[in-house]
Amino acid sequence: MSDQDTLTRPDVIPTTDGDHERFSHIVRAKDGKGASVIVTEAMVNGTPVEALCGKVWVPSRDPKRYPVCPTCREIAQQMP
Ligand SMILES: [Zn+2]
Repeated sequence: MSDQDTLTRPDVIPTTDGDHERFSHIVRAKDGKGASVIVTEAMVNGTPVEALCGKVWVPSRDPKRYPVCPTCREIAQQMP
């Protein structure tokens, strides 16, 4: 049994913004929405999302494969 899964199920969302960190960050689910829902809404509305590591960015409509952000991965592994 893993009741946590229904509460917060982080998804890995690639970023393609222009900074030096070309990583896929993990978005935190909140307000009863899954991370993928949050990211989809952010893409539609052009609003930023927040990753587990604290990075805030507007998700790209054209995600590519990048390595998972080490900080996000570390935090996700420590989540209950
Ligand atoms: Zn991150």
